[in-house]
Amino acid sequence: MFVGKTNIHRNSLRKLVGSDNITILTFHRIIPEGENYFIPPMALSTKNFRNLLQLIDRHFSYISLDEAVLKLREGVQLPKRSISLTFDDGYRDNFTVVLDILNKYGMKATFFIPVNPIEKQENYWWDILYQVGTNDAKSFAYFAHQHQVLPKSLISLIHDIREKNNGVRGEILRECVRSLNMTAYIKREQFVKELRQITLNSQSQHLLLNWDEVKEILKKGHEIGSHTLSHRPLTQLSEAEARKEISESKAILSKKIGQQQVMGFSYPRGDWNQKIADMVVEGGYSYAVTTRYGSNNRNANLYALARRNISDYQGIRAYMPTVMYWLEFSGIFDKVLAARRSE
Ligand SMILES: [Zn+2]
Repeated sequence: MFVGKTNIHRNSLRKLVGSDNITILTFHRIIPEGENYFIPPMALSTKNFRNLLQLIDRHFSYISLDEAVLKLREGVQLPKRSISLTFDDGYRDNFTVVLDILNKYGMKATFFIPVNPIEKQENYWWDILYQVGTNDAKSFAYFAHQHQVLPKSLISLIHDIREKNNGVRGEILRECVRSLNMTAYIKREQFVKELRQITLNSQSQHLLLNWDEVKEILKKGHEIGSHTLSHRPLTQLSEAEARKEISESKAILSKKIGQQQVMGFSYPRGDWNQKIADMVVEGGYSYAVTTRYGSNNRNANLYALARRNISDYQGIRAYMPTVMYWLEFSGIFDKVLAARRSE
C-alpha cells in the first residue's frame, strides 16, 4: 500500500532538501527522577524526555501522527523536519508523567493501547516476571525448571538473586526476558501463568493505564491507536486470531473512547508480514507503525512505517543528549543503530 501520486520534478527536489521526511519517535515508559526500569530500551528518564521535547520545539516541526498520515494521503507536503511522538504499551507513567510535559510544549502524541491488559488491569508478563523474580525467587526458579523455559545457567543465577544488588538483579531478570522472548509464546504463557498465580496473592503495583486515564488522555487532544487485544506477536497466531486482534481491538477502543476515530495501529514487537498488513488495511485503519528503525519519506508504506525507539539505553545520551538526538534524527547513525536495536 503506497501513497502519493508522483510528480517527478517536485519529488526529486523534495528528496534533495529532505523536507518530506517524517520521523516518528517511539517511547514506552518515561521514568520519574530517582527511579529506574529493568528493561533500559523501554525507558527514558523524565529529564531526557524534557530535553528532547525542548530540542524538538526549537529545531523541528511537530505534527501529530494521525495528522501527518492524513497529509501524506492527500499528497500535502509535510513541514520541514517533521517529527511525531508515539507511546506503545499503555504504561501509567504516560498519564502521570508525560501529559504535563507534552502540554507544556503544546504537543499532541499518539498512544497505542493494548485492550486486554488495560481492561483486566493485568501487568505484562515481563513485569510479572520481575515482581516474582525479586520477591519469590524460589518459586520462580522452580517453575522455570519445571516448564523448561530458561537455560540452567540462568536459573542458578535466580537462586542467589536476593544476594545481588539492584542493578545485577535487573540484569539477570532482563536476561530472562530476552531468553523468553525467543521462546514460542504458548510455552512462555504456561510459565507466566504460574507466576501470575503467585502475584494474585500479593499486592502488585498497577503499572498500566486504566480506561478513565485513557479517556483523559484523549480529552487533552491526544490520539489513541490500537496495540491489539493481547499484545501477542501477530505472525505467531492463526489467521482468525490475528484478524480478531486487529479488528476487535479497534471496535472496543472506538466504543470506549466515543466519537473519536482510531486511525493507527502498532504491531506488538514490530512483528508483521504482508498478510498481517493486509488485515490492518481491511480492518479500516489508516496506517500502522513497526519497530523498523528509520525515518519515512512521502513514498513510505503507510502500513509499515519506520520509527526511532528512544530510551536511555544509549548511555552517552546522559552526558550530551541534545547533540546526540540531533545527529540521530539526521539519519547519520541509522545503519549502526538499526543493527543494535533490532534485538
Ligand atoms: Zn508493545
